[in-house]
Amino acid sequence: MKIVIIGGGAAGVFASLAAKEANPGAEVLVLERTAKLLSKVRISGGGRCNVTHACFDPRMLVRNYPRGHKELLGPFHRFQPQDTVNWFEQRGVALKEEGDGRIFPVSDSSQTIIDCLLGEAEKLGVVIKTQSKLQSIRKGEKGFDLKISKENDLHADRVILATGSALAGWDFAKGFGHTVVAPVPSLFTFNIPSFPLAGLAGVSVRQAKLKLADGKFEEAGPLLITHWGFSGPGALKLSAFEARFLAEKNYEAALIVDWLPEFSEDWLRGLIEKSRGARQAGSLRIVPLPASLWKKLLDRAGIPQTTLANALSKKAVFQLCESLKRDRYQVKGKTTNKEEFVTCGGVALSEINFKTMESRRAKHLFFCGEILDIDGVTGGFNFQNAWTTGLLAGRAAAE
Ligand SMILES: Cc1cc2nc3c(=O)[nH]c(=O)nc-3n(C[C@H](O)[C@H](O)[C@H](O)COP(=O)(O)OP(=O)(O)OC[C@H]3O[C@@H](n4cnc5c(N)ncnc54)[C@H](O)[C@@H]3O)c2cc1C
Repeated sequence: MKIVIIGGGAAGVFASLAAKEANPGAEVLVLERTAKLLSKVRISGGGRCNVTHACFDPRMLVRNYPRGHKELLGPFHRFQPQDTVNWFEQRGVALKEEGDGRIFPVSDSSQTIIDCLLGEAEKLGVVIKTQSKLQSIRKGEKGFDLKISKENDLHADRVILATGSALAGWDFAKGFGHTVVAPVPSLFTFNIPSFPLAGLAGVSVRQAKLKLADGKFEEAGPLLITHWGFSGPGALKLSAFEARFLAEKNYEAALIVDWLPEFSEDWLRGLIEKSRGARQAGSLRIVPLPASLWKKLLDRAGIPQTTLANALSKKAVFQLCESLKRDRYQVKGKTTNKEEFVTCGGVALSEINFKTMESRRAKHLFFCGEILDIDGVTGGFNFQNAWTTGLLAGRAAAE
């Protein structure tokens, strides 16, 4: 049996290991069009590779996938972050969990992950060829005929397409009758022209809640103020859930920030009224916000910092609650997040059997990783999708 895997990224390489482990007698070949394998693994997480996330309940885990949550539930019952951790640790890679749940190699170097994956491939006898680009693929009577750049034509009994977000990969899928959901970027930060908080760049809050005025989702998480707008996990999460809506709006939308999601508005109003003393509003310390942000939010509510707290009118208290709970900004444009970005869109999920990752359009053709219309929020969820779907595709292809 000859299994050919197109794409030497996380999903393709993991699939090759699973295939060879499941069927050591099979010939397993990975073809990568560039000179480098696992190039996204190398640059991921700022060069540290955030391999997965410490979320071990499949039902909780799927909530981190704006696209793919329904379909991944079954696969995550078979291979989830705990299995990823065990897999790497059993092969000598020590991992550590950070405070926010992200899991990295203890070495803080993605090279450790690359060495482990490629070492395993060599040990198992997986053949890997770089600078081998799939140019065309055709289903014959028995298996597939493939044309590869600078190589003789190939025949394969089973093919796994793991080409990530490469346009050519989606064209191959279309050739087999698959629908490809139009790709748009996900995981980006928000640009806000003439950003009123620019002076606070670098200030962050532990937990803010964000939504778009006309959007469907409300997402909470740490929020970072930058020179240009908002970043941090909370902003990235909203960008992922609203990726398609924002693309349709050409990245122009009203963003509403709740700076204190743990405080109800009534509670907050009571707190402000109770804390009235002879102190100046600018030096009140009644809510857990950085002092510089509190002062800025007073400005946005039109309250001079020197106003004595006991002289705050009902209207001023109302305005302050608006700034704290419904602070509004006009987003215009996005910035690619350098730490992690993915593509929303890809091969339509209804056309895939999620028990095996086999195409429902072409027998013995399998898909895994980002070529599918699956993407996760930031924090290791995208690699988990690559490991899980790669493992299932590899095992099923080898059967
Ligand atoms: C800067 C950055 C940082 C990231 N950081 C993280 C992170 O910390 N945590 C996380 O979970 N996710 C992260 N991600 C996302 C994660 O890297 C991807 O979700 C994951 O790599 C997808 O794996 P894949 O194998 O499906 O696709 P890819 O890694 O894109 O691999 C696909 C491979 O197929 C090859 N290919 C394409 N067409 C052909 C062809 N015709 N013939 C042969 N080969 C072909 C490509 O060259 C490529 O090597 C990051 C992404 C980026 C860009």
